[in-house]
Amino acid sequence: MGELRVDGHRLLETLRDLIRIPSVNPSLVPGGEGEAAIAEYVEKRLARLGLRVERQDLGAGRVNVIGVMQGAGVKTGSGRPRTLMLNGHLDTVGVAGMEIDPYNPRVDGNRVYGRGSSDMKAGLAAMLEVVEALVESRTRLSGDLILTFVADEEYTSIGTERIAQTFKADAAIVCEFTGLEIVNVHKGFAWIRVDVRGKAAHGSMPDAGVDAIAKAGRFLVEMERYEKGVLAARSHPAVGSPSIHASLIQGGTELSTYPDHCRVEVERRTIPGESREMVAAEVDTLLRAAAEADPQFRADADLFFYRSPMEVPPDQPIVRCLERAYQVVTGERPALGGMGGWCDTALLSEAGIPAVLFGPGGFGAHAAVEWADFDKVVTAAKVLGEAVRDFCGA
Ligand SMILES: [Zn+2]
Repeated sequence: MGELRVDGHRLLETLRDLIRIPSVNPSLVPGGEGEAAIAEYVEKRLARLGLRVERQDLGAGRVNVIGVMQGAGVKTGSGRPRTLMLNGHLDTVGVAGMEIDPYNPRVDGNRVYGRGSSDMKAGLAAMLEVVEALVESRTRLSGDLILTFVADEEYTSIGTERIAQTFKADAAIVCEFTGLEIVNVHKGFAWIRVDVRGKAAHGSMPDAGVDAIAKAGRFLVEMERYEKGVLAARSHPAVGSPSIHASLIQGGTELSTYPDHCRVEVERRTIPGESREMVAAEVDTLLRAAAEADPQFRADADLFFYRSPMEVPPDQPIVRCLERAYQVVTGERPALGGMGGWCDTALLSEAGIPAVLFGPGGFGAHAAVEWADFDKVVTAAKVLGEAVRDFCGA
């Protein structure tokens, strides 16, 4: 089985086409274009290549597109044919303050500039090129290849959430810009709202009022102590220690009044082994510690949004398969490691589809200047193609 022939010119044209179609997430930036137009482009490409194409309408112009390359269903050496999912998000962050033309892709040497070039239209282009190359080489896969092009990764991931409910696969690769590293571990996070209650009173009557803002300070001090002590002592070899920090604070009505309420919103980043229940219990412990130190302290907490951390063991078939593919294409050993940020991989893994990240690289995701490293886009497409043929059986 020779190497799958990836067409660099076609791949570059695909990437430029994708950058030219604005797909700013409208939940992030009011008035953003959403995924409808870029989804239509992807849909046409997949249909032309003979894939079974499906569109999931998520409402308000938010769309997932799925292409299925049906396998022959023939058993391979490893037993029953295996289904592989490739996943990439169609949305981008906004373009305010950008120092480059966001939608007119400029190619300078190895760099392709544009909003979303790196995060993650380069990954989408590599996914499409894998299909082009498989079709061109008349490769007949044994198991199914499912390509999911999803909405809303940059906000609350309604796209991959729907995919996880509606599709099954033996493994998945999310083709984010990992710089050709295989990422099998990442952190999760929880958002917690803490409402601290005081007692309103005229500013001249200190005996009658309880200052909710000052009381919130009790909680903040406990939180910081907890992070520097307990959390810093916990560690995961690939992603380090968990953390907690205050993100937003709100309280008070006017200068001459004791504030009766102060709201602190907190973010807790979690590592594998930590759960939602653990985090909620920790916050309660912090509230109790603040109340012990100050009998007037009154507060409650609500953990209102949670995304779990993710860890796929290195001996899982999908990790082994990507490592092998990388070695076949580059002749080198791949880097395997962890990442701080949360990704859609966690939603797939939770749904029983072991998911890792692997994709091209670049610079400036969410920043004023963004570019994709084109050599890495080509290598990513080759490695992904190899991984597909190996995992699904060709
Ligand atoms: Zn991304």
